[in-house]
Amino acid sequence: MSFRTVTVLGATGSIGVSTLDVIARHPQRYRVHALSAHSRMEQLAAQAAASQAAVVVVPDDAARARFAAAWQGRARLPEIRVGAQALADTAADSASDTVMAAIVGAAGLPSALAAAQAGKRVLLANKEALVVAGRLFMDAVRRSGAELLPIDSEHNAIFQCLPHAGRASAPAAPAPGVRRLLLTASGGPFRIRPLGELAGVTPEQACAHPNWSMGRKISVDSATMLNKGLEVIEAHWLFAMPAERIEVLIHPQSVVHSMVEYEDGSVLAQLGQPDMRTPIAYGLAFPERTPAGVSPLDLARHGRLDFETPDLARFPCLRLAFEALRAGQGACVALNAANEIAVEAFLRGAAPYTAIAAIIESVLAGDWPRAGDALGSLDGLLDLDAQARERARETLARLGVT
Ligand code: NDP
Ligand code: MG
Repeated sequence: MSFRTVTVLGATGSIGVSTLDVIARHPQRYRVHALSAHSRMEQLAAQAAASQAAVVVVPDDAARARFAAAWQGRARLPEIRVGAQALADTAADSASDTVMAAIVGAAGLPSALAAAQAGKRVLLANKEALVVAGRLFMDAVRRSGAELLPIDSEHNAIFQCLPHAGRASAPAAPAPGVRRLLLTASGGPFRIRPLGELAGVTPEQACAHPNWSMGRKISVDSATMLNKGLEVIEAHWLFAMPAERIEVLIHPQSVVHSMVEYEDGSVLAQLGQPDMRTPIAYGLAFPERTPAGVSPLDLARHGRLDFETPDLARFPCLRLAFEALRAGQGACVALNAANEIAVEAFLRGAAPYTAIAAIIESVLAGDWPRAGDALGSLDGLLDLDAQARERARETLARLGVT
């Protein structure tokens, strides 16, 4: 049994909370080094106190003051680091060997990349990092010898169904004998809603996922199935798999988390409860297995498992993600940026649900680089990301959204 010192980036979010829950179950195995948060300082203070974190990272001086105020009355204030550079430095900090990358959106890329460059065991929940910087990120993993363990439940399932020699690496080619990856998707809350009603759905309805409890941005992504599109791109990079060998299947019960199809016709699946503590516990303990606080799967209660092909007229965002993957890295940056802007506008009630796909489609129609210097560095990718966000804001303004 190896002892791990863990940093949790995005500790106050849904994945962060589940990660700290798993860690707290195994005090002999794990110690927390650092936690980061963006806005929820009282929660961060409570988490830092409970986990005895040595370091917390907050975005600015106002957040530092709020953290210090929330800490009042507790002993031994942790070291408070401030700002984006401190976040990346903490991800690379030699005091920890394992980093959970669970910040939401492209905002999580610099710190996740820093952890990869520093050769950590990277538990990657932040799929946007791979969508925006797939090649750069995987090259960093290869160069540093980092261990990359996918936490996204589908990719964690695929990883569990692939052969590996007890060490997580960054493959340069698809695993031998594998024909296709089959990514399952629940279909979200609007799988069977009449298409004509989609323009009027509210953020609360979009965030009411039938099976999973998640942060608001990924919940909307699941409703549009852009989430599955991001996951197709994520799978492409993690498993070196071309787009045409990745299939998406709707599976409303969310019991089969994904599958690997082999050349001989065998299909291996990983099943489990829709509870992120399972993939998190797997990533933390790999190659061992540990309890995660998850109740056993009762297949007799489910009785049946259903599968269907997604309807791209209902889920245009899934089509757009496949198009972006075929169009290259620049288009993937644009896809992600446009989605983040559109989802944020939808969540604050400023744009209708159906505007999300329209904005992404409009931004993707621009001329995004397939190759070149811009795609080879973090700064270049972040520049492209900023351009795509600007385009998305212009499109929103044309729709009358401010
Ligand atoms: P949440 O919205 O619940 O949490 C996001 C976390 O990131 C919070 O700790 C938040 O801090 C922090 N954060 C937000 N914005 C910034 C920023 N600009 N800079 C630094 N930190 C920031 O998201 P989830 O936990 O649901 O998702 C996290 C990631 O994991 C996403 O990439 C998502 O796609 C992925 N994922 C999530 C799954 C799930 O079940 N939730 C499943 C599979 C993947 P604060 O709250 O303090 O503002
Ligand atoms: Mg997923």
